[in-house]
Amino acid sequence: MSIAVANLCKTYGEQKAIDGISFQVSPGRIAGFLGPNGAGKSTTMKILTCFIPQSSGTAAVCGFDVSTYSMEVRRNIGYLPEHNPLYLEMYVREALGFIGAIHQLDKRQKRIPEVIELCGLGDEQYKKIGALSKGYRQRVGLAQAIFSDPEVLILDEPTSGLDPNQVIGIRKLIRELGKTKTVLLSTHIMQEVEAVCEQVIIIDKGRIVADDDLSSLRMMHHNHSLEDIFIELTGPDSAEIN
Ligand code: ADP
Repeated sequence: MSIAVANLCKTYGEQKAIDGISFQVSPGRIAGFLGPNGAGKSTTMKILTCFIPQSSGTAAVCGFDVSTYSMEVRRNIGYLPEHNPLYLEMYVREALGFIGAIHQLDKRQKRIPEVIELCGLGDEQYKKIGALSKGYRQRVGLAQAIFSDPEVLILDEPTSGLDPNQVIGIRKLIRELGKTKTVLLSTHIMQEVEAVCEQVIIIDKGRIVADDDLSSLRMMHHNHSLEDIFIELTGPDSAEIN
């Protein structure tokens, strides 16, 4: 499995952010990770990327446990965090070279043009990141995430705040990346999931309430739209259904 999570819990002080979740994503799949705000998506992603430790349970990436093999996990993972922190004073190519240096990649000079091409950054490559539009900044975030050619990509709301054209561009790019990588993608946009994801994992109040192929999930819910299914499983009346 590219991603394997079992009985994972995270407590912040008194608050249970995730409460015994388990799911798996097999190699080469694009999985949508959905849930209302505060459901526990970012917390799960931060544990998978070794940013924070879990309180209990296990999480593994490419067979490496996040607690015991943190360096191997980081080597195999590309992460686009929710607010995409970037070095705005750096030039695009400079930032990519810097990421390559962090990953100690010998062939980073060769990798820079490859990643620029893949992420559609050709016209913007000589600009400072601070001068780019939000859509291009997201592309730089994705370029950084894929720079070391990791097997697994964790993308936290990659299209949030983008205009419709930028959304389509980033979605196309994710689909392209998903041909060779395993992707776990959080989003609030249901069309996005329908457009790019094969597997859908829905989390609500720190618990998994659905985990299935998109087509099976829809079949199980009388072919309702994903939006209706999401509301059914996570809306105010969901306790009766669950
Ligand atoms: P999501 O990404 O689905 O919006 P999060 O994982 O960010 O959800 O948050 C899950 C819950 O944990 C929320 O109730 C949030 O307020 C809480 N939480 C997240 N980070 C912290 C933190 N650093 N300290 C305390 N509570 C937190």
